[in-house]
Amino acid sequence: MNPSSYQEMLALVQSFHDKHDLRRAGGEDLAYRVALMAEELGEISACVTKGKGKDQLAEECADLLILLIGTAIAADFDLDQAFQTKMGKLSTRKSKIVNGRIRVSEFSE
Ligand SMILES: [Mg+2]
Repeated sequence: MNPSSYQEMLALVQSFHDKHDLRRAGGEDLAYRVALMAEELGEISACVTKGKGKDQLAEECADLLILLIGTAIAADFDLDQAFQTKMGKLSTRKSKIVNGRIRVSEFSE
């Protein structure tokens, strides 16, 4: 995701928030947004556990991305900058196999 494409997505999500006046109507309350994101994560999980197709999985992932961008609007932080900073940190981490699957993390041992 390059910065310009993020800016385009941000503008679209901001327009959606403005159209429905989400800030005034409680749609930018962070606890509510966390619940909405959990709901979408459950829908993503159902795509996997119920064997739904790639198109459905993509739509549910888009739902979550839209909510994440909206949460950046609601909480007034720069998600694009946070993404770049975090990817920089991740790029320095080591990986190891944990229970048969790769994990990239800060391992304390
Ligand atoms: Mg959904």
